[in-house]
Amino acid sequence: MSGQPIAVETEVTTYPRVVLKPRKANPFYARHPWVLDSAIQRIEGDPADGATVDLYSDKQKWIARGVFNRRSRIQVRLYSWQPDEPLDEAFFRRRLARAIQLRRDLGLSDPRGGARVVFSEADGLSGLIVDRYGEHLVVYVTALSIAHRAEMIAGLLEELLRPAGILLRVDPTLAHTEGIEMPDAVLRGTSPDAPVIIEEHGIRYSVDLSAGQKTGYYLDQRENHRVAAEYLRGRRVLDMFCYTGGFSLAAAKLGGASEVLAVDSSRRAIAAAEANAELNGITQVRFRVGEAFAVLDELVAAGEKFSGIILDPPKFAKGRKTLEQALRAYHRLNRQALELLAPGGILVTCSCSGHVTPDEFLYMLVGVAHKSGRDLQFLERRGASPDHPVSADCLENEYLKCVICRVS
Ligand code: SAH
Repeated sequence: MSGQPIAVETEVTTYPRVVLKPRKANPFYARHPWVLDSAIQRIEGDPADGATVDLYSDKQKWIARGVFNRRSRIQVRLYSWQPDEPLDEAFFRRRLARAIQLRRDLGLSDPRGGARVVFSEADGLSGLIVDRYGEHLVVYVTALSIAHRAEMIAGLLEELLRPAGILLRVDPTLAHTEGIEMPDAVLRGTSPDAPVIIEEHGIRYSVDLSAGQKTGYYLDQRENHRVAAEYLRGRRVLDMFCYTGGFSLAAAKLGGASEVLAVDSSRRAIAAAEANAELNGITQVRFRVGEAFAVLDELVAAGEKFSGIILDPPKFAKGRKTLEQALRAYHRLNRQALELLAPGGILVTCSCSGHVTPDEFLYMLVGVAHKSGRDLQFLERRGASPDHPVSADCLENEYLKCVICRVS
């Protein structure tokens, strides 16, 4: 080293400005990343969708830097609160590295397992989900800002994680609302020829990365699969909405459930679940394709009883507007399940509707207890596994509820 000072050239770039209406700035000083169209007074300059913009208060004070998308109700997604920080490759590398480090610290880097490596706002990367299944990554895009940067992000993920392949999937609903026109693709390396096998608590699951639901597997339920299994020891279990068998196989193998009936309306999911049971030499699970409410009615009519029931339905509330309707559906589902649950039974009941708060879900269960005349004791109130963190800046990211109850 010569000891000579190095002259660093600082490039001052100005970006188009998005100016807020009066009294709309507070959430963004508090680092909330979503600027809705209703908060915006005017746009100075002519930013293209996907371009970097700066957010200003009505008093012309700089607040944050983000990405513009006229097509979306979230017109700006904010990424940085430092005026001298461009949203360039180095920025995304820092954010990705921080997210990857968290999963390492959590002990979730075993190449045989699966983990959510990036969880959107919770990792300061609104619109980007990255799930790792063994040696493969699935990049799941939920915003145009990320779709425009997918190539760069794939390059960074390759550099940081050295995966065998990186697959791109775009959320079909959000593709429409965000205006993303991008087909599913292989961004780096190769797509696996067969479903990938991952291990979770010593149980092997095959995951279909290109045709499975979401990115292929529900990694958010990882710890709930294990904890629920403990409560289901020696029990006769009904696993409603089983998908590829997460709760069923854990109950059978880790919890030693005596018998499990696993139900899902997707024929494809049931075929995968059956294959997973076989892969693990598990024989005490029976699988059935069926619609949940119809199967519950049928089991009640047949006088069946279970000593453990798991309910993990798809999202019932698509927005705040459908909240009441969703709460009624959760009520009906849980109430019907209680008719099948013997006294002293364990109910593991979940909701993945972000619009239903943990308290609203609990009050729904309080209503079910009253209406059914059963005593419910809440043993555990759980959320998603820790590779799905919630950022203090965006509590909307909290979505999964898993309540374990004893029912007398
Ligand atoms: N418990 C699973 C995840 C469940 S996801 C796990 O831990 O991996 C929700 C599942 O509900 C999906 O597999 C979907 O196919 C199924 N499903 C959706 N609507 C249904 C219905 N009306 N009846 C039964 N299953 C349904």
